[in-house]
Amino acid sequence: MKRLQSFSHAAIALMGAAAISTAADAQQSRGLKVFISVDMEGLAGVVTAGDVSSTANGDYQYFRKIMAAETNAAIEGAYRAGATDVLVRDSHGSKENILPGDLDPRARLLRGASTGPKNMMEGIDSTFDAVVFVGYHAKAGTPNAILEHTSTGNVVDISINGVSLPEGGYNALVAGLVGVPVVFVAGDRAVVQQIRGLLGPIGAVAVKEEINDASNGMSPKQAQDEIRKGVEQAIRNRAHAKLYKLAGPYSMVLKVKQERPIYPGATRVQQGEFTFNSPDLLEILNAFNAMK
Ligand SMILES: [Zn+2]
Repeated sequence: MKRLQSFSHAAIALMGAAAISTAADAQQSRGLKVFISVDMEGLAGVVTAGDVSSTANGDYQYFRKIMAAETNAAIEGAYRAGATDVLVRDSHGSKENILPGDLDPRARLLRGASTGPKNMMEGIDSTFDAVVFVGYHAKAGTPNAILEHTSTGNVVDISINGVSLPEGGYNALVAGLVGVPVVFVAGDRAVVQQIRGLLGPIGAVAVKEEINDASNGMSPKQAQDEIRKGVEQAIRNRAHAKLYKLAGPYSMVLKVKQERPIYPGATRVQQGEFTFNSPDLLEILNAFNAMK
């Protein structure tokens, strides 16, 4: 009985200590978590659709190795900056491009298509400290860009609250919604300019640029070195990164080539053009995913 009583006093003392521990202690104890979303069109050397299609006769098998290598460079940069946990979201097509054994074993891999609105950001939540984009590309209609498109390729344009967005733009909004800043983007020069235009001067590496539909770019090795250094620096500087947010309620204007069945609550404005309003950003993305 006496023993039990002294244990209770110790337990109460511990509870008191926990109650006065600071937020900084809490962050330290949960570590530094980094979320990496990886697409293919913006990888070093990629220039045609066949390079990123598992069903085409291009160099897909080669470029999925490059995808893993650029991702591993980002993972290494994150760990050098103090990361304790890294989650990689395979974000291209079927989301089954990175062969799991090719990935740095320190990272976890979120593989396969997912249901719900987050898509290329599946797995993000408020426990993360920074988001990194690798292999990203510019939105549909961007001049001087390589493999520019938005999502399915059926999308002519998506804007939210009047802001026309590339994939990296609405993905940054999803991160902002849970309080996590995007700190770095790698892809062609066009996507780097586009993302910085929306998010501000975040870390970036332009691994290639378009010249009359051709790609003038770094060697994969050089791209990986730059990504490793760039991600490390961007994560070290994450305190300066701003959350990307638009004030709600949200209003989407979606323009598509081929119309899909209309999402409940959406309005058809004219041929190929729909609007949808909601106070919930994820509901906006549900409508986008249904009609894109
Ligand atoms: Zn893609």
